[in-house]
Order: sequence, then structure tokens, then C-alpha cells
Amino acid sequence: MPINTMTEELLWRETALCAQAGPDFFFPAPGSSTREAKQLCNACEGRVACLEYALTHDERFGVWGGMSEKERERLRRSRSGRR
Ligand code: SF4
Repeated sequence: MPINTMTEELLWRETALCAQAGPDFFFPAPGSSTREAKQLCNACEGRVACLEYALTHDERFGVWGGMSEKERERLRRSRSGRR
């Protein structure tokens, strides 16, 4: 991947609200609520880019871009079904 493309792809991390929260907040134990993490994501400027990054890089764990693992998997399947 060219450096400029990689830099642009990761720019959303500069404004990531989760950087101020601990990792447990976004990687809760199985069965724990993800509601608070999702609320923070909804206020985050980089939410869309973060979600696309997680989908592109097949991130399987935690909340990314306001979506849980299961929600991202559903989105991934619905997108692949559209093609
Ligand atoms: S959308 Fe959520 S997980 Fe992604 S950078 Fe923002 S706060 Fe972090």
C-alpha cells in the first residue's frame, strides 16, 4: 500500500474518541453491554472511516465504528450479497 494511501486510511485515528477510554470499554467481556462504547462512537468524527477500516481488515473483536462484531458480520454479509 502506498504511504499516502496508508496515512489517509489511518487519519481517523487522530480524532478517535476511544483513545481516551480504556481498551476494556471497546473490547468488553463476552455478554457485556456495548451500549456505552457505541454511544461514544456515535459522537466520534472518524466513525465511518473506523467502521470501514474494521470491515476491510476483518477486525473480529470489539466495537469499531459503532458496531459490535455481530453487527459488522451482518453488514459484511449484506454487502457481499448485494454484489
Ligand atoms: S468510531 Fe468508536 S471505535 Fe472508532 S475511533 Fe471512534 S470512538 Fe474509536
